[in-house]
Amino acid sequence: ASPSAPSSSPARALGEVPPAGSRIPPTVQVETAWKRAQTLLNAIDRASPEEKGDLELTLYQNLQTLSYTSPDTFYALITAHLPALMPFVYTPVVGAACVNWYEVAGHAAINTGVFVDGFSSDKASIKKQLEDYRDNKSAGGVDAIVVTDGERILGLGDLGANGMGIPCGKLHLYTACGGVNPGKCLPVTLDCGCNVDEIREKDTYAGVKRKRDMSVEQFDKLVQNFMEASMEVFGREVLIQFEDFGNGNAFRVLEDWQPKATCFNDDIQGTASVVLGGLIASLRLTPEVASLKDHKFVFLGAGEAGVGIANLIAYAIRAETGCSDEESYKNIHLVDSKGLVSKSRTDDLAHHKLPYAHDVGEAKTLEEAVQLIKPTAIVGVSAQPQTFTESVIKHMAKTNKNPIVFALSNPTSKAECTAEQAYKWSDGNCVFASGSPFAPVEIAGKTKIPGQGNNAYVFPGIGLGALTAGSSSVSDNDMYIAAKSLSETVGQDRLDAGCLYPPLGDIRDVSKKIATDIATKAWEDGIARHPKPADVSKAVEERMWSPFD
Ligand code: NAP
Ligand code: MN
Repeated sequence: ASPSAPSSSPARALGEVPPAGSRIPPTVQVETAWKRAQTLLNAIDRASPEEKGDLELTLYQNLQTLSYTSPDTFYALITAHLPALMPFVYTPVVGAACVNWYEVAGHAAINTGVFVDGFSSDKASIKKQLEDYRDNKSAGGVDAIVVTDGERILGLGDLGANGMGIPCGKLHLYTACGGVNPGKCLPVTLDCGCNVDEIREKDTYAGVKRKRDMSVEQFDKLVQNFMEASMEVFGREVLIQFEDFGNGNAFRVLEDWQPKATCFNDDIQGTASVVLGGLIASLRLTPEVASLKDHKFVFLGAGEAGVGIANLIAYAIRAETGCSDEESYKNIHLVDSKGLVSKSRTDDLAHHKLPYAHDVGEAKTLEEAVQLIKPTAIVGVSAQPQTFTESVIKHMAKTNKNPIVFALSNPTSKAECTAEQAYKWSDGNCVFASGSPFAPVEIAGKTKIPGQGNNAYVFPGIGLGALTAGSSSVSDNDMYIAAKSLSETVGQDRLDAGCLYPPLGDIRDVSKKIATDIATKAWEDGIARHPKPADVSKAVEERMWSPFD
């Protein structure tokens, strides 16, 4: 199938031989492309640290080129070899690609998706851009949009218009992991300038050469124009994912639009869902902690990820116990760059931190906070490497039989601790998960498999579920449903090795399950705009685009 194949055509598992008479599948091309990719993967393995980065970018570029010269081959390739190729389609290599986006992406950099000039566009001009895309570049319409303003790209900060690599990469994953038709995906950058001089002032930079000197009112108006234009051009239920906005805007934009559009923020909500999924799975490994409400959490980091996760844990506790808001926040504590978030803090606490400002005393560092609160779980989302120190982990291991240690900061160089450190310092007793992948660790005669809380386990399924039902919104409850669904896909063999997530290679099945659960709930709640099919799981499967259709 070309990307323009109707999304209703039946999906087949990749690798399966299509019935006689159907189109010849691109298996030969896929094999050839995989051999070429393997040559580079091997070279990357052997490369010196100085050569490695260039080789990684070469593989990234080869894959990007394939994605527009032969989309079928590209999607078949990355779907079949997801664990090996995901790092070259998305993080971490997409980060390096974004830093020099106009050099790395070349032709694709200016021909992919839609750049909206945030300073000079009004709603009519944005609509015109979107209509052009629909009529000339899409497969007759758009189902899914990923939009960024480039202000907080991964852990790299403000990259301005270079951030376009992120929506492009995320949408590749929507197709590979969630079967969203690539011809109906649209990457968007709302170009609001860039505050980093060396990025903005480069000759090759094709974004708006201005600082981010827009007022909050101007910014909100731009987002409003874009959201309304998208829904008018592509239909009310077009799925819009916010990605890598700065945390000064992200929470407000989400609050404004969650009730009015089919949208979510992956940095806040997708992260929360995948981490909650891991926590729910971990309950099967911690006999002393029977449910979420029995945990005491300390977060290092109180930004989009930290507060997003904390809010969803509190939501889940309320859903499970029927307790008050206040009660649900009680055992969740946040440490930010100034220390423990608490009642006594006199600096202006950002709105999103307020529910967690408890009256428990003060702590300047994580170590002090851990001693004061005696948590059962620590969650690192601060992008501060090596902050889960030996003494912090040893303290956790002393006060808990099986402490939860989630070192979620990306990339690997930013992780709060490594898997090996966490297992070693807790004598193999901690339940560990990370944001970046770590290799298995041998400890006390056992092999531990560290789980990677990759957002790609959840966002494609959440999107696919909303699209299948034609949902008019995506709610916090959907994030909770996805977390529970994900936790149910973790087999006993994985848990026995201490791993809280299923193999990445199973991700299309995970997405299918999450999508089925989300869509089923949408019909139950009456927010689905499409007629209910007899078999929701089959409807989800049929919607999944496959390069072999
Ligand atoms: P963010 O919104 O910029 O938040 C960063 C937070 O860290 C802020 O609350 C900041 O404090 C705090 N912080 C900075 N320096 C600190 C220090 N020295 N001590 C304690 N806290 C400190 O970023 P984000 O989106 O939440 O992302 C944070 C990290 O999580 C990134 O590394 C990202 O890769 C990772 N992440 C992982 C996943 C995943 O594994 N699936 C998903 C999303 C994000 P202030 O509030 O005081 O400024
Ligand atoms: Mn992101």
